[in-house]
Amino acid sequence: MTSCASDTQASPETSQIVPLSRKPASSEAFVSRPENTGKTACIRTFGCQMNVHDSDRMRRMILDAGYSEVQTYEEADLVILNTCYVRENAVNRIKGHLGELGRLKREGRVKKVALTGCIGASEESRELERQYAIDLVLGTHNTYELAEFVGLPTMQETHTPELPGTIGEHSAFVTIMTGCNYQCSYCVVPSVRGRMICRPLENIVEEIERLVEGGTSYITLLGQTVDAWREKGKRFCDLLERVSEVAPRVWFTTSHPSNMEDRTLRLIGERENIVKRLHLPVQSGSDRMLKIMHRGYKSDRYRRKVEVFRKEVPDGTLSTDIIVGHPQETEEDHRETLRLIEDCGFDSAYVFKFSPRRGTEAIKMEGAVPEDVVQKRFMEVLRSIERNAFERNQKKIGSEEEIYIRHPRNDEGVAIGETWSGHAVHVNTNASPGDYVRARIDSAGPHVLYARNSA
Ligand code: SAH
Ligand code: SF4
Repeated sequence: MTSCASDTQASPETSQIVPLSRKPASSEAFVSRPENTGKTACIRTFGCQMNVHDSDRMRRMILDAGYSEVQTYEEADLVILNTCYVRENAVNRIKGHLGELGRLKREGRVKKVALTGCIGASEESRELERQYAIDLVLGTHNTYELAEFVGLPTMQETHTPELPGTIGEHSAFVTIMTGCNYQCSYCVVPSVRGRMICRPLENIVEEIERLVEGGTSYITLLGQTVDAWREKGKRFCDLLERVSEVAPRVWFTTSHPSNMEDRTLRLIGERENIVKRLHLPVQSGSDRMLKIMHRGYKSDRYRRKVEVFRKEVPDGTLSTDIIVGHPQETEEDHRETLRLIEDCGFDSAYVFKFSPRRGTEAIKMEGAVPEDVVQKRFMEVLRSIERNAFERNQKKIGSEEEIYIRHPRNDEGVAIGETWSGHAVHVNTNASPGDYVRARIDSAGPHVLYARNSA
């Protein structure tokens, strides 16, 4: 997924076509802070929305402990690196940051460094801790221990942290499940995030009610496989329906094709306040590869889901994740992926080059794909996705859209918003995040729509 917030630079390993989430607004909206202690902290977030959400919760802890948040390492007493472990280049990047922080520590500018998130939960974190003299290492299940580290009373925390980090913000992430019960050949998530734990429905709804009362208008339900959520005979569709009765605007990510029910797709089409964007990672278009990856579905089943989505949500957008160069991927497998891309006409996609991860099945597999072949396939997939996305976006020109503003105007007067169909739009407006504006789309690229001439 899938997508990044503070870590939005495209790396050579990934291509972000349309960011699925953006950095939530800063935490200035928080109320009643304790006295400033003069201490400063900098939080850097890498990886997916789950990490962005965890960073929000840690931000609340440091602010509660009287730290003020700063944006650069040089200004910080405490630096928290909240990390991603999904691909190898993520670890390499963190090593770069740790090296730089080691230097600043030796110069007496940074005092403490904490490593949290998925790398923190991995075995490799012990080596990093020693090598870089890290002061605190936390996994994904014990981030609450940061509280004690920064001088707050110890907090008890279950899998459903009672630490809403985003009250007062116009949009908020709400975790509905953690972990994952799948065992995809290439993926470290089950080993760093554990098995699936679903948060009780009432508990989720209570948090959302609180957020909405506090002024939040956009709720994103989060989890590695949100559509696998269940509780006492209730399924994800029931939860989504209930949440859509409470929240003014709702989205969810990430879904797994094996769990996606037709009735959920119908609900997205029926409910006006559910954003009509489905992120449904396919990974490959080849049945042989899907089997090797243990994805649990065949490409035709995926195509059928997409057909249902297009029928039930005709104005919806569809995004996906694709891995190229997984061990044993042949040219024919790759062609199958290109065929699937043409058949599904994705509106955007995250394309990843396979990255061998310690502890996964794929790292031991024979049949590695040579780097030049991976690069060629990567570019072919990318071009095909972009061509489809561009053609689809062109069809939006001339349409009048209700746009939810996510980011305020920049120096050139351009704000970033989102249509109900989930398109990102650059729009000329003074409106604030959380406001809606109506505007006509006047041009389109492969990644964004433009409403430049609107008031
Ligand atoms: N739970 C989500 C994905 C979580 S990881 C799902 O199953 O769809 C986000 C994306 O990173 C994956 O969809 C996959 O495309 C990519 N990814 C995960 N591990 C990878 C690896 N070892 N190499 C390359 N890409 C990987
Ligand atoms: Fe990883 Fe597969 Fe679980 Fe997604 S479904 S988190 S890719 S193991």
